[in-house]
Parts: sequence; C-alpha cells; structure tokens
Amino acid sequence: MHIKRIIIKFITGLIFICAVMPAFADSTGYVNGVRMWSAPQSSRIVFDTNRSIKHRLFVLHNPERVVVDFFDTRITKSLNALDITNSNIKRVRSAARNKDTVRVVFDMKVAVQPKSFTLSPNNKYGHRLVIDLFEKKKKSNKPVRSVSSSGKLKRLRDVVIAIDAGHGGEDPGARGRSGKYEKDLVLSIARRLEKKIQNQRGMRAVMIRKGDYFVSLNGRKKIARKNKADMFVSIHADSFKNSKARGASVFALSSRGASSEAARILAQNENAADVIGGVYFDENDSLLTSVLLDLTQTGTIETSLSLGDKVLKELKQVGKLHKPRVERARFVVLQSLGIPSILVETGFITNRREERKLQSWRHQQAIANSILKGINSYFTDQSPPGTFFAQRDRKKDYVIKRGDTLSVIASNYNVTMDNIKRLNSLGSDSLKIGQILRIPN
Ligand SMILES: [Zn+2]
Repeated sequence: MHIKRIIIKFITGLIFICAVMPAFADSTGYVNGVRMWSAPQSSRIVFDTNRSIKHRLFVLHNPERVVVDFFDTRITKSLNALDITNSNIKRVRSAARNKDTVRVVFDMKVAVQPKSFTLSPNNKYGHRLVIDLFEKKKKSNKPVRSVSSSGKLKRLRDVVIAIDAGHGGEDPGARGRSGKYEKDLVLSIARRLEKKIQNQRGMRAVMIRKGDYFVSLNGRKKIARKNKADMFVSIHADSFKNSKARGASVFALSSRGASSEAARILAQNENAADVIGGVYFDENDSLLTSVLLDLTQTGTIETSLSLGDKVLKELKQVGKLHKPRVERARFVVLQSLGIPSILVETGFITNRREERKLQSWRHQQAIANSILKGINSYFTDQSPPGTFFAQRDRKKDYVIKRGDTLSVIASNYNVTMDNIKRLNSLGSDSLKIGQILRIPN
C-alpha cells in the first residue's frame, strides 16, 4: 500500500512537472551574448537575450558600483570575455542571487549615471538589453574666457570641419566580402583626413566619433553644433548585392525625393543606423523642431551641392566614380545642420578589389587628400567671415581709391609693382578710381 502511494505520488508529480516544464522553459530568459564599447566618458554594454528581459538597474556608492538584476534569467555567456581595458569599468562580476535572479555588478573606476533600455529584434540582432554608463560631468572651475572688446585686432578664427566616420560600435555598417567592416575602414580614412586638416592653415577638424563606439544620428549632429562646425563631412563605404558595383559617390540632402532609387535605398540603409546601434526614445529631437529647421534648409542644400561637386571632382582624380554627379536623398545625419553637409561613399566594400583598396594606406591617403582639396576649394570660394579664408580673400582684391599709386600699393602689400602688373595684365602704371586690383600672395 505504502509503495503504491509513493508510486502514484511520483507519477502525479511527474505529470505535474511535464505540464509545467514547457511553460517554465518558455518563460526563462537567457543572456546568450554580451559585447561592450567604450566611448569617451561612457561605456555601453549590450546583452543579447532570447526575449525581452525584466531587469532592475541601480547604483551603489563607496566604492562606485552599478548593479543589474536580471529576473527569470540565466546567463550562458561568460562576462570575463568583455574587454574592459580602456573603459571606465574596473571589474565585472555576476552571481545567482536566488533561484531565478542573476545579479551582474560593474565595479566602476569613476562615478557614473547608468541608463538601460531594451531593443526589439531587427535584421541584424535579436532582443537586446543595453546598459549605458555615463560618467558624471565634473564641474570645472576654469573661468570662462572673456572676450576683450578693447578694439584690438580680432584674431581670425579657424573654419571648423566636422568629420563624421559613419557607424561604429554596435553598428558595424556594411561588411566586405573578406569580412572587413565599414565602421573600421571609414574611421581610418577619417583619421587621415583629420590629420591633414590639422596641418592646414585656418582649418580645424572635429572628430564626431573617435573610436569604435556608437553615436546616434542626432548625437552626431549635436557634436557638430556644440563645436560650431562650419561644415559636416560624413564618411562611409557603399555596399551592394552585386559585387561588381564600384566607385565613389557623394551625396547631399534632399528635402523632397531622392535623385535615384539607389540613392533612396542607400539613405534608408544609412538611416537604419539608430535601429542597429540602439537609441533611447528621448534622444530623438522633437519632430517639430526638425520640421521647422527643414524649412530653412534650401540654402544649405545649395552650398552642400557646391561642396559635393568640388569633392567629387577631386575624387575623380584618384579612382572610379560610381555616379558622375552629386546624388541626393533624405539622410537623417545631414538634416537640419544649417551648414554645408555631404556624405561621401568612398567606394564599394562589397567589391573585392575596392575592399582591398580601401584598406591600403595609399588609397586611404588619396581619398582623404581629395576630400581635403574639395573642402579647401569650397572655403576659398565661400569663406565664412572672420576666418583666415575670408582674410585671404580680402587681401586678394584691392579697390583703387583717390590718390593711390601702384608703388604705394605694392609696398603696402610687400610685393613688386611688376608682379601686380603681370597678375592684372596692366600695360601701364596708371590706375582708375574704383578699379579692382588682384594682389599676388
Ligand atoms: Zn554607411
């Protein structure tokens, strides 16, 4: 009797377990992948999960720690694989807190403000939980530099060029046939361009992304605005299912449709960066602001096209062009900037030959050089006031006033009379009031 009861109990138990198991298995969350990216003043840790995970995030002080509790979740991936070397994290630990909660603790080097959000699957990733660890801003005691208005000669300011290496971190961009990522190639071209710009008189470069981490499309524009950029150059590499597609192309914003179906699809792909890289909702600027700003964009589209033309002309000298004219489409990263802004597709990463070329320092230098030449020629044509380029332009032309003589003008500019005459094809030394003289450099 006794044994029979035990057997019955056992069988009922077994039935119960079998009935409950599938439901239980379904409800268990798994962390089956983890990556991290460190940016200046922040780190991003991304957990791949089999479903949307319930979690709790909080901070503990002395020492500084960030704690993430994963509910009904198991972590099947070792967190030791995370490379925290150059990050603001000292150590990562994890342990089961009770039978269905796992606790992950980040020991921090500095105080941080964490944020977390989940992302639903897309064509690149499944469910993700993203933890961002933002370093708290230190209050600087530096006095704000006051601008003297003592009537002294104003210092000429540099024109600021924002160099935007596309993609980064969680968003690798296009992938080449041999496995090279767009994000890496474009960063190295961007760095070469940065160096060249820093060596130019009257120019300064601002790198939108300085390493392998993700910056949202709006975040990129914010950095450009904060640095008062005069120009925005986004650098990318193209991809296409047909591996024969090749050549560089330059794009500007369109406020209406795209200039071709290919341009429309390209913009769509580039605009997907935020979905792949992952952004918070509140990070998106309000729609209204961008609509209002769009109305003032017509002027900047014109200047962007002019810049694009110049860059395209230079790119033609170093390789094949994919499209002979500046193409246009709705690129979010180019919207509402209010400055000449272009997107350069440096070549097709999906074309084996171009993928190889894009990796070579020689070709990278050539591309950076072409972009620089285009930028230079643009600013020579349309120089923002108060800059070296504006000053240089002003020096170039001189309007003759009453009493001017060629010899005085020549000595004022420290050039010879002959040089002025030659440059202006003057037959004699006589000048007319209102006449414009070009002054040689
Ligand atoms: Zn891209």
